[in-house]
Amino acid sequence: GFKMGIVGLPNVGKSTLFNALTRTAAAQAANFPFCTIEPNVGEVAVPDPRLEKLAEIAGSRQIIPTRMTFVDIAGLVRGASKGEGLGNQFLANIRECDAIAHVLRCFEDGDITHVEGRIDPVADAETIETELMLADLESIERRRANLARKLKGADKDAADQDRLLALAQAALNEGKPARTIQIAADDLRQWQLLQLLTSKPVLYVCNVEESKAAEGNSQSARVAEMAAKQGAASVVISARIEEEISQLPDDEAAMFLEEMGLHEAGLDRLIRAGYQLLGLQTYFTIGPKEARAWTITKGTLAPQAAGVIHGDFEKGFIRAETIAYDDYIAGRGEAGAKEAGKFRVEGKTYEVKDGDVLHFLFNG
Ligand code: GDP
Repeated sequence: GFKMGIVGLPNVGKSTLFNALTRTAAAQAANFPFCTIEPNVGEVAVPDPRLEKLAEIAGSRQIIPTRMTFVDIAGLVRGASKGEGLGNQFLANIRECDAIAHVLRCFEDGDITHVEGRIDPVADAETIETELMLADLESIERRRANLARKLKGADKDAADQDRLLALAQAALNEGKPARTIQIAADDLRQWQLLQLLTSKPVLYVCNVEESKAAEGNSQSARVAEMAAKQGAASVVISARIEEEISQLPDDEAAMFLEEMGLHEAGLDRLIRAGYQLLGLQTYFTIGPKEARAWTITKGTLAPQAAGVIHGDFEKGFIRAETIAYDDYIAGRGEAGAKEAGKFRVEGKTYEVKDGDVLHFLFNG
């Protein structure tokens, strides 16, 4: 599955947000730096109103949304790359994530200590980014030294790795995170395998006070401006409100949202933003037993999309029967879509589109 790491300085609201996301008290929120010591992992359903509509038409007995994993990563403080705070243990946790949700404190509250003694989310973002850049530089130096031996032979992989590491090193030495480098399509796989901390896509999560959850505040506006400059994404959220909403039954939650002037839960926006950041999309399998959503990366071909369900589906792939989401809705189901000539049979080279309703045929 796809993993998003939640990072940020202590006391910015990471655990509160994580609790809301996973509706558990697993990560205990407390007004005390370093209270979440173990990396906390939680799975969340990716909200998608299309799935309910499809299930209704097909009369599916069960609805199974697709899921995304969030990891609450504590321990990032100034000096972390030099072993301050919880030291280096969090770096491995970040390395394993596909993207980073960087929580920034945009709320004022005299009762909640800020580790730097002032509210400045842009400076906080730089503090964390600096630590990640230093950690990357250190690991690059170590890895290039290890690669030096292999480079004497004719190891193509080692040469590629070293070339890419050198690129990253040059950028980092200029104060630029690795994600700012344009990587050629041929190099992308090798690049991702390097797992550099600053190569991961970033979503800034502005945690604002409850009264500003809808429109954000002046601090979150500054973060949005910074994100735009970096080609990163940002969302405004009130972790406190999300925590309250996550404890309410669905109908009460909807009323609460309306009262706050919000159209949807901030968590839904956050999850969707993460999904987009990771370049993910959804296809559906729809039947009377269940309506189910599946996650693939953009550009995935039909056999590999089938492989998400089961390895055998990919190995024995014959063809995919396909109806686009809009056509399925317009035809009020498979039969109607067929009558309208919208039922397609696609082969091994078909690139699955977001919202496709698929049925795979395979040798098994
Ligand atoms: P973490 O160290 O980043 O995981 O931060 P926590 O989630 O433990 O939050 C630290 C403290 O800030 C807790 O007492 C939270 O209740 C509080 N907090 C989190 N979000 C907000 C918010 O939006 N407004 C206010 N006033 N307090 C918040």
